[in-house]
Amino acid sequence: LRRPMVAGNWKMNGNSALAQELFKKFASKLQNDSAEVVLCPPSIYLESVRQLLESNKQTLDGALVRMGAQNLSQHDFGAYTGEISGQMLKDSGCRYVIIGHSERRRMYGETSNIVAEKFAAAQKHGLTPILCVGESGPAREARRTFEVIAEELDIVIEKNGTMAFDNAIIAYEPLWAVGTGKSATPEQAQEVHAFIRNRLSEVSPFIGENIRILYGGSVTPSNAADIFAQPDVDGGLIGGASLNSSEFLSLCSIA
Ligand code: 13P
Repeated sequence: LRRPMVAGNWKMNGNSALAQELFKKFASKLQNDSAEVVLCPPSIYLESVRQLLESNKQTLDGALVRMGAQNLSQHDFGAYTGEISGQMLKDSGCRYVIIGHSERRRMYGETSNIVAEKFAAAQKHGLTPILCVGESGPAREARRTFEVIAEELDIVIEKNGTMAFDNAIIAYEPLWAVGTGKSATPEQAQEVHAFIRNRLSEVSPFIGENIRILYGGSVTPSNAADIFAQPDVDGGLIGGASLNSSEFLSLCSIA
């Protein structure tokens, strides 16, 4: 049985006050049978979130709230100014790390090879990667969606082996839906999620059955219910709506 997950990717937004506000709402509303909630603030705020997790342990009362980073270095340590290693993230209390977000692939030159290395680095240091895949608008129009997704998955499989997906989350984030206000339809999401699950099932039925696949791209409380209800959608990776504590909380209860 796959526990639903709602992960908030703050991107380069938010501050420690947002973290405090979220925890105030979680404390009174989160049910412990609800989705696993993951907060991915900018790295500079990981420590604030860690402290909030610690000090709210009682009030969270068994609800699963965890922390993730938005990126990590593929290297373990050394002369890489401005970078953060998997070990540092683990040490800071992270359980998850987002890998290969389209913004990093597009704006920071993260090739599929680098993404595969980062995936490996995350697992090496005991973090669970949340691997983002997704096609561009033109690729979808050219009916190349499955081809692009397969390529992005295959490079990670090639470098890490299929069994690596035993401890990973996948996020399907079509580029044309990220930050555009135009989410995929539930049918479009389901179609790609099923494709991803089948592809992994071909190599390991166990992994195919158990891996959680999140949808990301303009998810809001008004479209989430239909998307999350799809059989192969296990929750969402939320950008904009994760910055509004009421909206984020309502997404957590929808999942
Ligand atoms: P939006 O929810 O703002 O479209 O962002 C999605 C996303 O990129 C999450 O990683």
